[in-house]
Amino acid sequence: MTTCAITAEIVEGYSLCPRKAFFFLWDRVEKDPHEYASLIEEQEAENCKTHRVARSQVIALGYAGHVLGQLQHHVPIAGTIVRADGRACRLNLTKKYQQVKSIVTVLKAWTEDPSEEAPPVILNKDCPSCPFRDPCCRQAETEDNLSLLERMSPRIMKKYHAKGIFTVNQL
Ligand code: SF4
Repeated sequence: MTTCAITAEIVEGYSLCPRKAFFFLWDRVEKDPHEYASLIEEQEAENCKTHRVARSQVIALGYAGHVLGQLQHHVPIAGTIVRADGRACRLNLTKKYQQVKSIVTVLKAWTEDPSEEAPPVILNKDCPSCPFRDPCCRQAETEDNLSLLERMSPRIMKKYHAKGIFTVNQL
């Protein structure tokens, strides 16, 4: 049976885009390691400029707390992220565990059934900094995917899908 470790990077990726987590988990789409490294640097530089802690980083920290909780039988109520400006930021994690658990449940199901298909492409604001942006954009264009439209959200796409509209051309 194929086994695959669920890492903080994968959990964080899922909080941004389930498809991204799927690709991280199975490494099914080729990514240019140099381009990926520069994307990460760009992202870090952006966080550095704003000195902010990204929501997805809090989820990654929550996952670390979740794993610790399994080892020591109680989850930490808080964790600390050291921001780019060197300041330590203490964060309450209690409200994040439910989301982390839901993500871990999906990821475990994926690891148990490697035949699962990747979640559909839904282009979003995180795509520009995602290592899978090129194949996803190509697929979205091939599908004439509704998420090619600006301001399209998964919720609105769902509404269109319920009406039988799946492509931009059908609008
Ligand atoms: S490019 Fe966009 S849709 Fe594709 S995996 Fe990355 S974030 Fe998700």
